[in-house]
Amino acid sequence: MKKMEDKILAEGEILSGGVLKVGSFLNQQIDTVFMKEIGEEIASLYKDDEITKILTIEASGIPIAVSAGFAMNLPVVYAKKNKSSNISGDVYSTVVQSFTHGNKNNVIVNKEFISPDDRILIVDDFLAHGSALTGLIEIVEMAGATVVGCVAAIEKGFQMGGDRLREKGYRIESLAIIEEMDDTEIVFREQ
Ligand code: 5GP
Repeated sequence: MKKMEDKILAEGEILSGGVLKVGSFLNQQIDTVFMKEIGEEIASLYKDDEITKILTIEASGIPIAVSAGFAMNLPVVYAKKNKSSNISGDVYSTVVQSFTHGNKNNVIVNKEFISPDDRILIVDDFLAHGSALTGLIEIVEMAGATVVGCVAAIEKGFQMGGDRLREKGYRIESLAIIEEMDDTEIVFREQ
């Protein structure tokens, strides 16, 4: 998505440790006009795939998933990060390594919100090492539902998570893929 690349170049801030800050349009302040276009782009990527539900993870995946949900007329479920290790039997749970905070979170979804006949599209803001998407895939598969594919608004290709998931056979679409990033330059993968 050309506009995603343009927004990253115009407004993204490169931090140390391979972190990109996009707080001005995606992560803290939200550019709602652009967010609507993101939802429409995701809908067009998966228009023929009979998706029944969109799954994301709190917090920053939610606006993107909701925008896609509006564009596709679909419900959105978001996995919650649960501090307690006391997990009830009513939830699917897995552990996700947080890229930005460096800690591990239990991630849970109530069993009532995913059923075996669901065809799920997984959405998140960033795809780095792939821990968040892998955790969400595990939850969908625990429920016996189908992972139709995943979308990341921004993939950092140099952190390899996206390509590892593609090698496993999952369909991973990213609206922009950063191949290289240093203090002076961002290079995108041709798509
Ligand atoms: P992964 O699990 O693929 O390693 O990392 C993805 C998760 O970490 C996303 O849910 C996102 O919130 C966060 N994340 C990863 N890289 C970045 C980044 O460069 N910038 C921001 N703002 N969040 C990131």
